[in-house]
Amino acid sequence: MEKYRAFAARKTADGFSAGFEQRKMEEMPEGEVTVRVAYSSVNYKDGLAATANGKVVAAYPRTLGIDLAGVVVQSSAPRFREGDSVVATGYGLGVSHDGGFAELARLPADWLVPLPESLSPKEAMALGTAGFTAALSLRRLEDNGLRPDRGPVLVTGASGGVGGIAVALLARAGYEVTASTGRASERDYLTRLGATDVIDRAALAPEKPSPLLKQRFAAAIDPVGGEGLRHVLGSLQYGGSAAVSGMAGGGEWQASVFPFILRGVNLLGIDSVACPMETRLELWRAMADEWKPAGLLTDIAQEIGFDELPERLADILRGTIRGRTVVRIGGD
Ligand code: NAP
Repeated sequence: MEKYRAFAARKTADGFSAGFEQRKMEEMPEGEVTVRVAYSSVNYKDGLAATANGKVVAAYPRTLGIDLAGVVVQSSAPRFREGDSVVATGYGLGVSHDGGFAELARLPADWLVPLPESLSPKEAMALGTAGFTAALSLRRLEDNGLRPDRGPVLVTGASGGVGGIAVALLARAGYEVTASTGRASERDYLTRLGATDVIDRAALAPEKPSPLLKQRFAAAIDPVGGEGLRHVLGSLQYGGSAAVSGMAGGGEWQASVFPFILRGVNLLGIDSVACPMETRLELWRAMADEWKPAGLLTDIAQEIGFDELPERLADILRGTIRGRTVVRIGGD
């Protein structure tokens, strides 16, 4: 194969474009391992990368896609052999290095996680960066003392990718989950994922603004950020923590020190991109095993064909997609 199909973004004197093209093998980036991509997935960041002013792509041309799962076809690294199933998320994928929206990808061996036996490539992409971020959030909360008997855990943006998987993982790990959503129509879906309570996102805002609200939640997983984070922090119980991963609702909020100095609240930053390999291996193992939301992944994730990708990338920025989107590239 001299060329392979990819969805790539380009910036030239004529402006920005993102679309399908045949990319040349000889232009593949450096890397010890070449992977035939079986599935990729659509994340919010991919939606941004496919726009002219998304500010996530470091240099063009760039094959997009921050996630991939597939099979090794060539490796000069002793850790991987032809035929191994692998998964990769984050690092430079789809941002500063060609990513997963392609039939083939070449990448450093250090970015690859061997796919655990109890996860198929498609299941791995149903989880993808969003699922990994949800798992990292839960791990960090537990590292900071969260246990199921401490009380309900709030998940914001629950109908989205990170949020939906966070609901399912928490429920699987024995937590009582309050799902916050802007979509009342998704109540049944969120209940199926394991939410014990579903609230309208507007209900988190108090009638009178205050940094200290009723102490309702033992912890929060918040991929939404924005002004809502103020209400999230104000609603945590004494010693509670918020794991903040995203900005679907905005990048800034009006901060106050009071939840921190009067209630000992913790604000935990979640970064899936540069997360160390040791943590990645541990979390992929947990997602394949005791945290695996087995039967729920088909409810959370919808499969689309490669050709349907451009439309999905636009939809994710509109906040209208439920759960996750898996993109079939080569298939199993
Ligand atoms: P997503 O599937 O689009 O989910 C985002 C959800 O947020 C939406 O489904 C919606 O849920 C809610 N939402 C959207 N617009 C909102 C608004 N204006 N105000 C309040 N809520 C709003 O995206 P995702 O893939 O889960 O990613 C979510 C965020 O996490 C993004 O900012 C993404 O960049 C970030 N992220 C960060 C990391 C990391 O490593 N830190 C990793 C993955 C993702 P409801 O309709 O249920 O309210």
